[in-house]
Amino acid sequence: MSNAPKDTVRGIDWPDSVSLAIGTPLQPSVVYKTSDVEMLHAQYEGRAEGFTYSREGHPNATVLAKKVDLLEGATGGMMTGSGMSAITAVFFGLLKAGDHVLGGDQLYGRSLRMMKTELPRFDIDTGFFDPTDANSLREAIRPNTRMILVEVVSNPTLRVADMQAIYQIAREKGVLVVVDNTFTTPRGYRPFEHGADIVLHSVTKLLAGHSDAMLGYVAAQNPAHSQAIWDVIVTMGLTASPYDCWMAERGMHSFDLRFERACKNASIVATEIAKLPNVLRVLYPERSDHPDTARIPSIMGENFGNMVSFEIAGGHKAAQRLTENCDLAFAPTLGDVASTLSHPASSSHRGLTSDERAALGMSDGFFRLSVGIENPDTLASLLVKAISAAA
Ligand SMILES: *Cc1c(COP(=O)(O)O)cnc(C)c1O
Repeated sequence: MSNAPKDTVRGIDWPDSVSLAIGTPLQPSVVYKTSDVEMLHAQYEGRAEGFTYSREGHPNATVLAKKVDLLEGATGGMMTGSGMSAITAVFFGLLKAGDHVLGGDQLYGRSLRMMKTELPRFDIDTGFFDPTDANSLREAIRPNTRMILVEVVSNPTLRVADMQAIYQIAREKGVLVVVDNTFTTPRGYRPFEHGADIVLHSVTKLLAGHSDAMLGYVAAQNPAHSQAIWDVIVTMGLTASPYDCWMAERGMHSFDLRFERACKNASIVATEIAKLPNVLRVLYPERSDHPDTARIPSIMGENFGNMVSFEIAGGHKAAQRLTENCDLAFAPTLGDVASTLSHPASSSHRGLTSDERAALGMSDGFFRLSVGIENPDTLASLLVKAISAAA
């Protein structure tokens, strides 16, 4: 019998090797076997380390979370299946019926929808404030305000929030500050060093960087908050996939280099397109005509980000001509290795009337550019060609 072949169903063990792979292995297994009953008890009671079921954690998520933790100066960060699921986990982990939560008035579109439509169905009240105006926050806070969700740089008008005032007011009132750091990235701004309670990311964007993995990340300063968020991730099934974590970790090997290059490219592009006669304005935090120049150095340092917005003359027709003549991907995302161009009036902000968009500073000739890592001369000439053709 001892010579009988092992069954091929789960019968072959992973080969031993005294030398170790330098690339992170991909581990897609959903379940993990344990040696015996006592060991399983030990795992569940935290006396032994080990995975059990991948909705409750897996090695690729642990490795990736540690990597983002290093960048953010965080401990115990957690991966989720998307940026939106990170936001969901924070809201549902830390809020209850009767609480009030405030958001910046130009949050990411789905975050706005979550606050306007979904949270009120669970009797969680929501309100909005202008993150560039401390008084607007003071007026919006109520006795039952529990949390503020803010993005450092607004989308797509690239206003820079008055972060110091927000932390100070929140501390006075005992309100948690949650920073969606997707746009700024931990290379541009590290919220925990300034007073944030919770940091989250759409890792889908710049951190992963190749538009082929959808993931979120969330970290909290207070371990009790981390635990509450983690329990919601596991219970609601907001878990990240091992494959996406593995892809994103590979993408992150080059994050520093990509970000540095993309910021340099963005600065060059902002300067070049501002020279064109049919460009009405260029929005980029490095520019001296940016409305928030006074506080930008204390928040962004020398990294002004990879996002550039601009407005061309000629409204809808000119916008159509620009996209017809542009060799960059016309796609409503950001943070890819390649530059992508988006048009809020036909995508993220299409639900608003043109008057409502105008009030937010977005005409039909308004574009948002996510700058990638291309050769800067090629990139600038592509844009100059497309914008000129729109005139
Ligand atoms: C994309 C984005 C999100 C949502 O992330 P997904 O990974 O698409 O779910 C949240 N916040 C900001 C600022 C984003 O750009």
